[in-house]
Amino acid sequence: MSLTVPRFLVPFHPKSVPHFFTDVLVIGGGLAGLRAALAVDPKLSVVVIVKQEIKESNSNYAQGGVAAVIDPDDRVEDHAADTVEAGGTLCDPEVVERVVSEAPSRIRELIDWGTHFDKVGGQLALGREGGHGHRRIVHALGDATGREIMRVMILNVEQARNIEVWENTFTLDLLTLDGACRGALVWNGRHGKTMVWAKQTILATGGAGQLYRETTNPDVATGDGMAMAYRAGAELRDMEFMQFHPTVLYIAGGSRSLISEATRGEGAWLVDRHGHRFMPDYDPRAELAPRDVVSLAIVSQMEKTRHPNVYLDLTHLDRKRVLSRFPGIAAVCAEFDLDITRDRIPVRPGAHYMMGGVTVDLEGRTLVPNLWAAGEVTATGLHGANRLASNSLLEALVYGAHTGERASLAAAEVRDDFAASVIENPRFDVLTEPLHLADIRNSLQSLMWRSVGVRRDAEGLQEALESINHWCRYVLPRQFADPTGWELQNMLCVSRLMIEAALEREETRGAQFRLDFPQIDETHWHRHITFRR
Ligand SMILES: Cc1cc2nc3c(=O)[nH]c(=O)nc-3n(C[C@H](O)[C@H](O)[C@H](O)COP(=O)(O)OP(=O)(O)OC[C@H]3O[C@@H](n4cnc5c(N)ncnc54)[C@H](O)[C@@H]3O)c2cc1C
Repeated sequence: MSLTVPRFLVPFHPKSVPHFFTDVLVIGGGLAGLRAALAVDPKLSVVVIVKQEIKESNSNYAQGGVAAVIDPDDRVEDHAADTVEAGGTLCDPEVVERVVSEAPSRIRELIDWGTHFDKVGGQLALGREGGHGHRRIVHALGDATGREIMRVMILNVEQARNIEVWENTFTLDLLTLDGACRGALVWNGRHGKTMVWAKQTILATGGAGQLYRETTNPDVATGDGMAMAYRAGAELRDMEFMQFHPTVLYIAGGSRSLISEATRGEGAWLVDRHGHRFMPDYDPRAELAPRDVVSLAIVSQMEKTRHPNVYLDLTHLDRKRVLSRFPGIAAVCAEFDLDITRDRIPVRPGAHYMMGGVTVDLEGRTLVPNLWAAGEVTATGLHGANRLASNSLLEALVYGAHTGERASLAAAEVRDDFAASVIENPRFDVLTEPLHLADIRNSLQSLMWRSVGVRRDAEGLQEALESINHWCRYVLPRQFADPTGWELQNMLCVSRLMIEAALEREETRGAQFRLDFPQIDETHWHRHITFRR
């Protein structure tokens, strides 16, 4: 299937923009991008582009931790089996095996670089999360694992003399010549558009939670990388699979903070407005069932009790343990006058993790020569139709390292050539009627939440597609001057692909629950839905 989108977001000409040359270009400075940059041979130059400050990424907000087999009683085969149990038959067994086997060494590497993971009695403290049959989640600062890992990654990148980070720089599009990637067109407030020429390019732009009104993702997660890869000719797949986190803080006026799954791992209950613990009514695994099961149960219970949320209850747990294990959650809730050791926390599901993305092989190679991809922007085959909790930081580490090493080897083979090329880009209809961009963005986010959320059906998806097609017709041909418009164009492009895939997949599988096709259909749907321009 294909969607007609202009090849580039903006027009440009090599004579009228500055040029920059690097060996390896990394687009995105979350965990995947920084791990990739650090894997490049120090003799080669690396530029990392991030659209806001480097600290602003999904990676920085990760709470629960990284899954790895550390306990001698645990087994790599069990971690792999739990991963496949969550993701189903769309998981690629070779990828699963590779990633989970590498987990312990990637954790050791982080420790060697200076990451302080939480310990008990001198040993790594291991948490347990939904879908894991064993305690195997390594965490830091209680519930601020991402912040601690990113502190160390950023420090290492700052100390690497071959790596430059360009903050507050928006990547508009990948540059391709004869079908191969040659770098990217970027924009910032100081230099305007710049053509960055690279021997090898790694895409690590993260996810797309911002397509939804309710999400745990920060503002940067607008799916830009998926949209630009699609425009450049890469393949996208599994776009129908967005994972909803069951427990996102729901307080009017408050941020949509994630309340970590680890709370349920420590024994927290989900209760409805009447105080009834409802999860055992839906699944024998109760609060430790996989995310999609818990999200669906919550939405059903909200409907049954006619209430906009349910509650997470930690009041029966040891007060001291709760406060030391979840200091971040306690602090956020305290801002809204909630004491998590005494009060129940109002929660509901929110868009959290995008399983779909750019198709890559075992090493992170995309279908566009010289273009690699790592992290949440990809669909590697690890998560299948549903990610197992705490497997995504791990995936970012593993694929970050592999793409960095591979891109480095490939770049070292190419001789220096500081010449810009002419890249054909079509003229634009510049429509001058101003648009209320925030209004369209809000409408899109609400529509996605309503019609492409936890539960879907053909009628809702079709209506959503028609609205988005209409918006696409007048937003995509326009030329905008700054990231607000470009993000909206990317969000529309990615939303459309997600809806097309969700409509096409007439079954319920993993994170996609179709009210009109409530069963899994292995006969017809044991396959990926792919898109290529
Ligand atoms: C609240 C929260 C909690 C989570 N907890 C966990 C957890 O406990 N365990 C776990 O395994 N996973 C967790 N996840 C998921 C995990 O954090 C992400 O999947 C992972 O960090 C993705 O890393 P990444 O490097 O691919 O992307 P990100 O960390 O999101 O980085 C994306 C980067 O791309 C840049 N970028 C994007 N678009 C552009 C553009 N157009 N131009 C330039 N730069 C661009 C951004 O600036 C950013 O630097 C959590 C996610 C959230 C939101």
